[in-house]
Amino acid sequence: MIISENTIERVRALSIDDVLSTYITIKKNEACCPFHNEKTPSFRINIKKNYYKCFGCGKSGDAIRFVQEVRKLTFLEAIETIAKSHNIQVEYLEFGSEEERKEKITKLETAKLILNYAHDYYRNALANNPAMKTYLLERGFDDDKIEEWQLGFAPNGWKNITTHVINQNWYTVANEIGLVLTSKDQNYDALRNRITIPIFDKHGQIIGFGARAIGDDKPKYLNPNENFLYSKSTILFGLDRAMEAIKKEKCAILVEGYFDVMSMHNAGVENVVAPCGTACDEKQLQLLKRYTDTITIMYDGDTAGQASTTKLLNKALKLGFNTLTVELTDKDPDQLAREYSNQ
Ligand SMILES: [Zn+2]
Repeated sequence: MIISENTIERVRALSIDDVLSTYITIKKNEACCPFHNEKTPSFRINIKKNYYKCFGCGKSGDAIRFVQEVRKLTFLEAIETIAKSHNIQVEYLEFGSEEERKEKITKLETAKLILNYAHDYYRNALANNPAMKTYLLERGFDDDKIEEWQLGFAPNGWKNITTHVINQNWYTVANEIGLVLTSKDQNYDALRNRITIPIFDKHGQIIGFGARAIGDDKPKYLNPNENFLYSKSTILFGLDRAMEAIKKEKCAILVEGYFDVMSMHNAGVENVVAPCGTACDEKQLQLLKRYTDTITIMYDGDTAGQASTTKLLNKALKLGFNTLTVELTDKDPDQLAREYSNQ
């Protein structure tokens, strides 16, 4: 980041109604949407979740996204704008030279444009694919849950996002963040025929996608590659949404996969996070240490899950965590959460 984490956190901590009321008139968490023409309000805000959604045009996001859209700003410009209007002093990071700083900003902003473009593309593709929506419904995701987790669908095809990415001159960054690949001089979409699960950093910004295969494609899950925006050892899936619950429950539950986190959350257990498709390492555990000293490991009951549990247990004990493990026999947390929440 070019602006300090501290500044971004202070901007993120502002209440969404405070930020939005500079631009629109809010009454009882409702307003007339600034993004489409209307006389009766269909624009709602959820203060607790720091989230807005228009039921007329479908626009949604957090306070920063709102300011970006309404003022046509980049993420960093929006942070600066909000900070100024709320008397938050903006701290900038030091760079070797002005050129270096500009280059870094351009790269970061391009990555965000690509991720947001792909995200919108995948979400639209899911909205227009009844078969895929049925597939997700069977896994416990109705329209509201799809919206809440912002799931999407990367259709089969080699150039769904690639054509636009190339036309926009985004190739280099798109390739670096692993969304457009190249083989034998052909550029193509990395994600095909998969459910896309956006991964957010703790500021609520998309930094990559997890992707689950439909059917028997291997591997079953794809995770973002390591790149300048995404480092797996510093990310826990679901942490942006679990932080408050972890503090409240004084415990974090660690599960293995994206769907374990989402299904448990959907069933009302919100203090749940997962490493994104890799063994949980010490850095990730240290990330949790900021919020709690107690973790519960709830990995799959298979041999691989048990082996990972033992490894994780050792790391956690070394770091001084109070540790509990839940031994599952034949089901994973995703299945359990869905079964028991239906009763
Ligand atoms: Zn609207």
